Amino acid sequence: MESHFTLKGSFKTSADASPAKDVIDAFFTEANETILTKGAPEGEGARIVEWDIAGDRINLTVESGKHVRAHDAMLRIRKPLAAIIGKEFKVGVRGIDVESYIIEIPSENPLGELKIPHVSNIVYDEGVITLTLDVGEAELEKRVPDRILTLMEDKIAAQSYGGKGEHWEILWESEKKEFTFSEDPTQEMVKQGWLKRGSSRGQWIHGAQSTRLFRTFERIVIDELLDPLGYNEMIFPKLVTWEVWEKSGHAKGVYPEIYYVCPPKTRDPKYWEEVSDYYKVTHEVPTAMIKDKIGDPIGGMCYAQCPPFWPFLQGETIPTDEFPIKVFDRSGTSHRYESGGIHGMERVDEFHRVEIVWTGTPEQVVAHSKELQERYLHIFNDILDLEWRKAWVTPWFMAQEGLDGISEQGEIGTIDYEAPLPYRGEGGEWLEFQNVSVNGNKYPSGFNVKCQSGEELWSGCSGVGLERWASAFLAQKGLDPENWPEEFRKRVGKMPKGIRFL
Ligand code: ATP
Ligand code: ZN
Ligand code: MG
Repeated sequence: MESHFTLKGSFKTSADASPAKDVIDAFFTEANETILTKGAPEGEGARIVEWDIAGDRINLTVESGKHVRAHDAMLRIRKPLAAIIGKEFKVGVRGIDVESYIIEIPSENPLGELKIPHVSNIVYDEGVITLTLDVGEAELEKRVPDRILTLMEDKIAAQSYGGKGEHWEILWESEKKEFTFSEDPTQEMVKQGWLKRGSSRGQWIHGAQSTRLFRTFERIVIDELLDPLGYNEMIFPKLVTWEVWEKSGHAKGVYPEIYYVCPPKTRDPKYWEEVSDYYKVTHEVPTAMIKDKIGDPIGGMCYAQCPPFWPFLQGETIPTDEFPIKVFDRSGTSHRYESGGIHGMERVDEFHRVEIVWTGTPEQVVAHSKELQERYLHIFNDILDLEWRKAWVTPWFMAQEGLDGISEQGEIGTIDYEAPLPYRGEGGEWLEFQNVSVNGNKYPSGFNVKCQSGEELWSGCSGVGLERWASAFLAQKGLDPENWPEEFRKRVGKMPKGIRFL
């Protein structure tokens, strides 16, 4: 079975259209064979199955499949109908009323409790989800029913992937290494005074030793990868607005992991006086009072790092020879509200990452991804001496948009870099410590960036997570520089001592 649409509605008319009954009848009969089938496979157009005239209304019931949908049918017949009854009978069409609009969608399983705008009821029965829409003329014109159907189809499809990381395919694997260290590196770092917990959830204060490690990783990325490949450093914003996430696609699903940002309703000190007075008297910050005095969230803290770069290119046409454009950012933290188990450094709510972004023609973007992969291979094999592997995964946005088919062609998609953590034991889960993604035209198209030659633009990005590099490196090598590979020791120099406590 395919999705089925049943719309009962009416055209409001400026007068009783009864004198035009025969003409309307002829028009509807013909429309069922012509304008309501246009673009649909044989026999799968929309149909006016019933109609009558009652006072200043032409009531009708339209049924359809998903090719010419019932609401499209209403919009398609409106103008020609108005022309026919206007010219000969001087009756105008004033608008569309929707009495009821039902969409039936096949689904193997129910979807559970859902709240969807413009949907007043959802029931599941024997393989069919039945939606009752609450829409008027404006929503039909804005194609709201189409978006509702797409949303439901995505949810039904999502059930069958069972969430992220469904598609996973190994691309490359290093040789096995003998590990001499088997502790949890975060705990060891804490013991040795390299870092301490920050006051916020999943947040660490990095001491001199840990910071030296991170900066050395950055230096390696710059010297071995970014400089030789001709990258320029930029500074991307770290407060990201809804507008950016709408264009990047994150607005479709990032909500459970965002740290939200709300500005004060005003910066007038008088308005805030009761808050400071409350604190001064009680020594408690009155969070409920504050909640009242701040505005709606304008966005959130940096999540994926590259989206807030794109407004720099937004709406521009760029000379063909500028491509491929290669930039990176390491100017600030990323923030995610992570799920449970954030005991260690490998999954934190506040993290540090070098984000690498490139854009150009599809060929340039794919070729550049290969160059990056070669550089990374050199770094992980010859400098960090890690055990690691690369895997092809379907990125969340492609799974969400039902594009896994494209990912399977092997060009658009994400490569995760993963390393075993010896303390997790043989067979323990490997850690994703970075990724290289080719995102297709998603960003250039979302932010309306054009190439002078008119060629399509693609882009890619790669996130070097410093906490993740540190976790993988220290888990495999331990904290004693004596046991670190020579190439790394050379670059790290003499490790700083850090602060002693009594
Ligand atoms: P995971 O599946 O482990 O949560 P992810 O798929 O959410 O990772 P991406 O969205 O691909 O990660 O982010 C790119 C990179 O950012 C990751 O490879 C990792 O290096 C880093 N990263 C993401 N989330 C965190 C986190 N919570 N803590 C530390 N680093 C992170
Ligand atoms: Zn990115
Ligand atoms: Mg994650």
